[in-house]
Amino acid sequence: MIPFDNTYARLPDHFHSFVAPAHVPNPKLIRLNKALAEDLGLDLVWLKSPSGLAMLAGNTLPKGAEALAQAYGGHQFGGWVPQLGDGRAILLGEILNLSDQRRDIQLKGAGRTPFSRGGDGKAALGPVLREYILSEAMHALGVPTTRAWAAVSTGETVRREELLPGAILTRVAASHIRVGTFQYFYAQNDVSALKTLADHAIARHYPIAANTEMPYVTFLEGVVAAQAKLIAQWMHLGFIHGVMNTDNMTVSGETIDYGPCAFIDTFSTDKVFSSIDRQGRYAWGNQAVIGQWNLLRLAEAILPLFSPDLEKARSLAEGVIEKFTSIFREHYLSGYQRKLGLSDQSHDGEAFLKRTLGLLEEQSVDYTLFFRHLTKLASGDDDPEAFKSLFKEAIACQAWLEDWREHKIDVDIMRTSNPVLIPRNHRVEEAIRFAQDGDYAPFHRLVDALERPFDDRPEFEDLEAAPTPAEEVRATFCGT
Ligand code: AMP
Ligand code: MG
Repeated sequence: MIPFDNTYARLPDHFHSFVAPAHVPNPKLIRLNKALAEDLGLDLVWLKSPSGLAMLAGNTLPKGAEALAQAYGGHQFGGWVPQLGDGRAILLGEILNLSDQRRDIQLKGAGRTPFSRGGDGKAALGPVLREYILSEAMHALGVPTTRAWAAVSTGETVRREELLPGAILTRVAASHIRVGTFQYFYAQNDVSALKTLADHAIARHYPIAANTEMPYVTFLEGVVAAQAKLIAQWMHLGFIHGVMNTDNMTVSGETIDYGPCAFIDTFSTDKVFSSIDRQGRYAWGNQAVIGQWNLLRLAEAILPLFSPDLEKARSLAEGVIEKFTSIFREHYLSGYQRKLGLSDQSHDGEAFLKRTLGLLEEQSVDYTLFFRHLTKLASGDDDPEAFKSLFKEAIACQAWLEDWREHKIDVDIMRTSNPVLIPRNHRVEEAIRFAQDGDYAPFHRLVDALERPFDDRPEFEDLEAAPTPAEEVRATFCGT
């Protein structure tokens, strides 16, 4: 039924551990991502049948699957952990989608693996729905990300601080190779494994690197460029990943791990939601610096592949890592240029952006609504008073607005750069609360709305609003 074509399972034994998903008592399909299933070339009728559901629940292994947990390590909040690995995720295998791109199919929350340590290997309904909503929204917003193919409730309860309904997410990714996967072998001084892994990653994600003079340096350049662009895209959307540990950073450049992530409501550069990020390490405005730090860890791990001459290897790595700053800056500035509709590449671009973000912070302005109303103003279908009402003091934006209007504004670019809808934290929490009581309607409605986040659809207008003080989500939790 599923044309598996597994390559990770062929890698040496110490890359993974073969393990079957656990049996669950009473699986029920919550949602199936039809568009994604079609893109993967899979039969929807079969997927919705009892045997399709049994696969999504981990109760039967489809023919051709070679279920395994991947080994990796990582720096968590700056501290080195030599062994993490898939503790609650099981890779079923890989398939080629209709565009011939290789995709991992992984069950998240499918039971214990040799990497589970003290954990139960399970997932609660809340985090599963969260990842479904957020990863699919990010995809629709144009951000590279792992995808959600299906969510299934298991009919069992999982024990966290309280007893919660259990669920499984089927995740689709270009791969699950992380910076931490390389670090795992680096820490063991296993240069041969590093080379095998790098060759595998190059074949999968950066095939042109294989034909360059220094394939591993080109590979690092590819990852640096992909991550610099990705992080700039997050920031444009007001997205805070929240747990940018090196085991949560892919080499493919896809966003992964929707744990404590959140979207900014009221703008502030040092905004943090994650309850465990006490130092603000992963604050909105810190994400580029952390991204570069993580990439330095990748460079360090593959250094032995660059050159037998350590000095030379080091200087090659430094050259590549340094480039992150300028690549990020270019994406960051040009993205804001588009959000502000500044089509004239004006030389005051960077200063004007600084002033804009400074004003938003000082005036406690809702980030998404600011760009939304600015776009409406530029289209001529908003009244300036509605825009001004976003500011603590209406007068504060007067001079800014006049200066903005001095620029040549391109409203079409603004419309495609400023979403009408983002997955507002309070809406995500609301959808989860209802689902935990058995009502999935708000979840489905939110996912439906976020499929087209740039479109003006009156039926979803209520989802645009900023939270009231009572609705505001102030902290998010990992939910493991
Ligand atoms: P995360 O915080 O999701 O990035 O996970 C960090 C590490 O903890 C990974 O190795 C996970 O596999 C592991 N982990 C998280 N939750 C569980 C769980 N419920 N059972 C077993 N391992 C887990
Ligand atoms: Mg993780």
